[in-house]
Amino acid sequence: MEASAANGSTVVNALTIDVEDYFQVSAFAQYIARSTWEARPCRVEQNIDRILELLSDGGAHATFFTLGWIAERYPKMVQRIVACGHELASHGYAHERVNGLEAGAFFADVALAKAVLEDIAGTDVQGYRAPSFSIGDDNLWAYDCLARAGYRYSSSVYPIRHDHYGSPAASRFTHVVNTHVLEVPITTARLFRTNWPAGGGGYFRLMPYAVSRWLIRHVNRCDEESAIFYFHPWEIDPEQPRVTGVDAKTRFRHYVNLRWTADRLKLLLQDFRWDRMDRVVFGVA
Ligand SMILES: [Zn+2]
Repeated sequence: MEASAANGSTVVNALTIDVEDYFQVSAFAQYIARSTWEARPCRVEQNIDRILELLSDGGAHATFFTLGWIAERYPKMVQRIVACGHELASHGYAHERVNGLEAGAFFADVALAKAVLEDIAGTDVQGYRAPSFSIGDDNLWAYDCLARAGYRYSSSVYPIRHDHYGSPAASRFTHVVNTHVLEVPITTARLFRTNWPAGGGGYFRLMPYAVSRWLIRHVNRCDEESAIFYFHPWEIDPEQPRVTGVDAKTRFRHYVNLRWTADRLKLLLQDFRWDRMDRVVFGVA
């Protein structure tokens, strides 16, 4: 059955997954030293396999923004993502926030990630997403680095107000940032002169599903734009090891409603039409 029947819209939205493990999220960076990553039990592979199944059941394709660090450890998983017809894209190599790097180090990180991913998958990598949406007015040089490394688009801006990320004044929809690269922001709905998060993250787990659905429909119908939605593999994994000693706000944000995410994603797949970012942005793969 066509998803457009449920949605009342023929707009195709872009579904994206940031492929990293629970111990790599930026909000945990002050609690978890990078030097301990190697020793932590990984959950990413089993979670990605479950996501591949959800997408296959829902008849949807998606874009997987994958860390180079993860790809090197799980090359077969990366190959399975590509074999299932999804787009492989880059989340950088080591999950470094762009606003903590000099241009040279940033270029090295994104060029390495692209090379690692392309080598493992045997496919072109065109897209990049900055950890914690950390490209903003202060580091627009990052787009020149992405162009130099051979990327065609970035999805590194969430135009909302948030204490860890967000550029509330940024353009809400796809725009040209230089001669080689487009920026494709995460979706917000514009209501009461404010941008409301409509493109996933913790908000998708926190808000009732009906609110997320309403906001995406609003963007599809009123803005006549595709929604760009994202989530993480650890968000469907209530059994993940608990990180201890974390402040209450971070703990709440990371663990709230994990057990409902998979069911909500199933509804999202039924209620809207979804495809890979490259096809939504450029029209062809
Ligand atoms: Zn990330």
